[in-house]
Amino acid sequence: MNKTHLGHTARKRFGQNFLNDTFVIEQIVDAINPADGENLLEIGPGLGALTDPVCERVNALTVIELDRDLAERLRHHPFHNKKLTIIEQDALTVDFTPLAKDGALLRVFGNLPYNISTPIMFHLFKYAHLIQDMHFMLQKEVVNRLAASPGNKNYGRLSIMTQYYCQVQPVLNVPPGAFIPPPKVDSAVVRLAPHKQPPVDVADVKTLERVSTMAFNQRRKTIRNSLKECISETQLRELGLDPVRRAETLSLEDFAIIANWVHEHDSIEN
Ligand code: SAM
Repeated sequence: MNKTHLGHTARKRFGQNFLNDTFVIEQIVDAINPADGENLLEIGPGLGALTDPVCERVNALTVIELDRDLAERLRHHPFHNKKLTIIEQDALTVDFTPLAKDGALLRVFGNLPYNISTPIMFHLFKYAHLIQDMHFMLQKEVVNRLAASPGNKNYGRLSIMTQYYCQVQPVLNVPPGAFIPPPKVDSAVVRLAPHKQPPVDVADVKTLERVSTMAFNQRRKTIRNSLKECISETQLRELGLDPVRRAETLSLEDFAIIANWVHEHDSIEN
């Protein structure tokens, strides 16, 4: 299988699958709809499949690229190098606060390295208040999980946490053939728009995450069983939640009610 594209051999450890389908690329850029003057930020520009068409529409774009060779290529980009601010760093370690210059909210996008796409999203959620929206290419299965509602087989911790921070909108499915080299899985683009006001009141986000992890680790069990370490059956009833329900039937609001009680009573050990 051909792993070399535009003279660069794809590095598996950096999750490099380069977009190579103009129609798909156009649809993604149209979905992002970048405009001049916006605070645009791309994660993993690679060989510029999205960077180039975005730069054709705007005068400035910040990119974060970990691969030293690819960052170097972008520094010498024949047309767009003057428009680019290149941060050669692991996106997981980037402090996004100084990038939201003069209060201009960030518009983040990227065809993310699939091996670390979830940690990158969770890292960005910490800066949700500085972000206008995010458009990411992910494994289709991950997009299904982000967007899933209660009762759906894909509904889980990722759905709860993402929907706490963002409005989730699947945008486009992308087949493996759109990439060089083709990934083994189907892909999809999703739009994540951070809520201006959280949809539910959560006293401590870490507790929401811990409670949902605990509940979904044993998703076939009743919450009376899966959450017994942190909340009793009687207490669940007092909160208005039937203890024989299973995690996948609970809404974000239900999880918030449990997490707030647990946080207040501090009954999960770190
Ligand atoms: N945007 C290009 C495209 O669509 O063809 C490349 C996408 S490729 C799936 C992922 C890109 O993210 C690669 O350029 C890779 O080097 C870069 N990358 C991998 N890990 C990274 C990290 N931790 N921080 C920043 N960039 C990373």
